[in-house]
Amino acid sequence: VKRNGRGSYQFFSEAMNEGARERVGMEAILRQAIRNENLELQYQPRVRLSSGHVTSLEALVRLRHGGEQISPTRFIRIAEESGLISLVGHWVIESVCRQLRAWSGTGLRNLRVSINVSPMQARREDFSATLLAATRRHGICPSQIELEITESTLVEPKQRITANLSKLREAGFTVALDDFGTGYSSLSYLNRLPIDTLKIDRTFVTDSGSLEGGAVVAAIVALGKALGKGIVAEGVETQEQLDWLRTIGCDEVQGFLFAPPLEVRDLEGVLRAGG
Ligand code: C2E
Ligand code: CA
Ligand code: CA
Ligand code: CA
Repeated sequence: VKRNGRGSYQFFSEAMNEGARERVGMEAILRQAIRNENLELQYQPRVRLSSGHVTSLEALVRLRHGGEQISPTRFIRIAEESGLISLVGHWVIESVCRQLRAWSGTGLRNLRVSINVSPMQARREDFSATLLAATRRHGICPSQIELEITESTLVEPKQRITANLSKLREAGFTVALDDFGTGYSSLSYLNRLPIDTLKIDRTFVTDSGSLEGGAVVAAIVALGKALGKGIVAEGVETQEQLDWLRTIGCDEVQGFLFAPPLEVRDLEGVLRAGG
């Protein structure tokens, strides 16, 4: 290996090998976790500001490996690139439907759950059939499920995805545009998307304490309302953020101020108190 003048090149290529090795390792861990059902869901409550009640829960997937819990930020992209995302997505849909069924058996009948859907999954020809079959099989109502799609997924007109989402909305599912404000969708296009809800990205909520940041969040809420969408703020961590969101008329909030994503056994108390 040549040293002079190539130091940075050498460093770069080692870093790439390191990254590639980690990816291969993570893909193997993910394959194994799918096979052994070592995936888990946690649920984060979403709270309606007007009532203070928990109206729905966001399902967030985790991977159990050894004693360790691995965050989706470390494996969702790898799942997408390797094609394993359809197996993960399938597992999430099944688990959520089964859980909603179990909750309704214990008297929690009107709960709703949001599922994060990756673009690769939403694009599939059989996406709506899969969801409809799962809700039917478990005896739950499509209106109990909201699908969260990130804004960047829908930036250009993506025919197949919007067709799938429209079909699902007709069947009673609702759709939320996740991470809103980060995907650069044109505002005129927003009006025509098959969505019910805007989820304001956490970065805007985090910055809402400043004069400018607060004005940006207020503008997003006003825009969403003008278009007849429900507005959810994610990543709410402080009382100041909450007070501002209430002032500007945000409908629902989600964040560590209320609850982190929780395991099912830790949720029941929250649900009975607030639902
Ligand atoms: P997301 O959909 O934007 O989910 C919100 C993330 O913010 C979650 O991270 C959640 O734990 C975290 N969070 C919630 N409240 C707060 C808060 O007050 N402060 C801060 N700092 N963070 C908060 P998580 O669970 O690590 O998920 C990361 C991303 O992974 C999700 O972002 C979503 O894009 C993806 N993901 C999670 N579950 C699934 C899934 O089942 N399928 C797919 N396709 N993607 C998933
Ligand atoms: Ca989400
Ligand atoms: Ca989000
Ligand atoms: Ca996000």
